[in-house]
Amino acid sequence: RKLGVALVGLGKYSGGQLAPALQQIRLCQLTGIVTGTPAKARQWQQQYGIAAKNTYDYQTFDRMADNPAIDIVYIVLPNALHAEYAVRAARAGKHVICEKPMATTVADAQRMIQASRQAGKKLSIGYRLHFEPHHREMMRLGQQQVLGPVRHLWADNGFRFNNDTPWRVDRQLSGGGPLMDMGIYCLQGALYTKGQVPVSVTASFAPKPAGGLFKEVEAGVDWQLQFADGAVADCRTSYAENMQSRLRAEAAKGWAELQPAFGYGGLRGSTSQGPMNIQNVNQQAAQMDDFADCVLNNKPTRVPGEMGLRDVELLLAIYRAAETGQKISTRDVKDVLDRV
Ligand code: NAD
Repeated sequence: RKLGVALVGLGKYSGGQLAPALQQIRLCQLTGIVTGTPAKARQWQQQYGIAAKNTYDYQTFDRMADNPAIDIVYIVLPNALHAEYAVRAARAGKHVICEKPMATTVADAQRMIQASRQAGKKLSIGYRLHFEPHHREMMRLGQQQVLGPVRHLWADNGFRFNNDTPWRVDRQLSGGGPLMDMGIYCLQGALYTKGQVPVSVTASFAPKPAGGLFKEVEAGVDWQLQFADGAVADCRTSYAENMQSRLRAEAAKGWAELQPAFGYGGLRGSTSQGPMNIQNVNQQAAQMDDFADCVLNNKPTRVPGEMGLRDVELLLAIYRAAETGQKISTRDVKDVLDRV
């Protein structure tokens, strides 16, 4: 049988990307929903044929423990709420996929890992690009040093935020601005292309535009990651600029670049040898199918909670660098993974 997935939080990403992707997956299917809005529950039940017994709200959530139709709980809530529901899902005996950023504090990320371990269940992060073939190619070129060791990386990702999801500029719910939301892709791209975790970071905040939308969070950040061998990654993110997202790596024997780099489709890649000519895929379908395979065949996921924790630590180090103007050492960020 296909594994059953319950989506928690039926907002833009669940409705626009995950639910449609779940209609075309081999190993799992959408069987459950969690929402605080009864009208949305009725609409999703009709649209996706979801049974009333597999429909929960945030109070009845824990009753999922008795529901064998739900194997995997996918948390798609505002960032600061990820931890509570990931922990409750693990305690209900479910495998968890949690959206990025995993959490807004290190302590929250740690308790999510702890809860999944105690339950003997898997925990993964919604890092869709680890399953995307252009990004797999960047990982291969960089990590295997096909063009020589990567010396310099650039990563940009941002858009003009129009306040359609106000929690994104509410620090309590988001944990921060574009760095937590879009900049995390730059961080991830730099790490998996270089194949290493940086030893230090420097950063500065962009000026805030007039209008007062960014009272609680940054409007943009520019930052640099420094690696042990002297390589650097120059990264930018913003809620005030529509950027054509980009990931570029330069090495002694050539370069490789994705532009656009971080969207759901339409990615294009080239190297100093010529165009990559790689097909785009449904990233969310590839990501969820891989996790279902990990659950069914008891394999480790490529994007475990430990990777999410590492990234939360690095994001918070970037904020500390921007706030203090100091170079912040990240040597204590554990590279607990055999993969980046
Ligand atoms: P959204 O605002 O559209 O959806 C969030 C949902 O959470 C809404 O349905 C809302 O009703 C619900 N919710 C429950 N409790 C809430 C509360 N207290 N306050 C506000 N909303 C509450 O946001 P989104 O764009 O779908 O983002 C949700 C999560 O998914 C975020 O963590 C985001 O970073 C992540 N995301 C990931 C990707 C990706 O490509 N991997 C893309 C978009 C969003």
